Amino acid sequence: GGVDYIIKPVSGPLVCARVRTHLDLKIARDSLERMALVDGLTGIPNRRRFDSVLQSEWRRAARSANPLTLILLDVDHFKQFNDAWGHVQGDECLRAVAAVLAAECQRAPDLVARYGGEEFALVLPETTAAGARDVLRSLLKGIGRLQFAGSDSESPARVSLSGGALTLVPAVDGNPAEGLNLADQLLYEAKAAGRKRVLHRDLTDERGPATPATIEIG
Ligand code: GH3
Ligand code: MG
Ligand code: MG
Repeated sequence: GGVDYIIKPVSGPLVCARVRTHLDLKIARDSLERMALVDGLTGIPNRRRFDSVLQSEWRRAARSANPLTLILLDVDHFKQFNDAWGHVQGDECLRAVAAVLAAECQRAPDLVARYGGEEFALVLPETTAAGARDVLRSLLKGIGRLQFAGSDSESPARVSLSGGALTLVPAVDGNPAEGLNLADQLLYEAKAAGRKRVLHRDLTDERGPATPATIEIG
């Protein structure tokens, strides 16, 4: 991994200058790498990081035959929220939602990412269907408690999420895109069914019901 060299006789000031340059380069490179993987608004991992973690966790779960849970969440009627409260408050809301999701998924391999706009994606390795439903209930509860202050005359704004989730043991020759498509389809169904709910499908239970379970709070 050598990138530079110095020749003898060694000159103190020259060595110091060289070392400083390499330290500066390393610090700048690390900071760029971090920025490339973190969402600027919310401070949580971005979609690029999510895609790479999903890819590796998917393969790991396939190899070890462990269940993996994948969740897509979308803030309901967020356009209206922005229109009514302004984009600054909208940004604040996205930061608060991200913080709740990140706080509820604390296990080391869990990943909560901003997937884009007002959408969030979660990958929970080694999480069974029952575990996934527990997590979803506490996520939705946490989001339900959020309040955003308006002017004195207005009652505080609230937000809800809709989502699609699945728990599966990935096939060795499977592809994460299939999982994302199914989660997206379930999210679409959750929106169509009235929003403020997550539809969860357990693909690890072959004899289980074909219809997804609905997780909703309040
Ligand atoms: P639905 O319940 O069907 O999801 O409705 P929606 O209004 O949430 O969905 P739609 O896709 O129509 O609108 C998404 C809105 O999210 C529009 C866009 O301005 C807003 N949005 C996306 N990214 C940001 C952001 O970074 N900050 C703010 N303030 N708003 C954002
Ligand atoms: Mg959306
Ligand atoms: Mg939305």
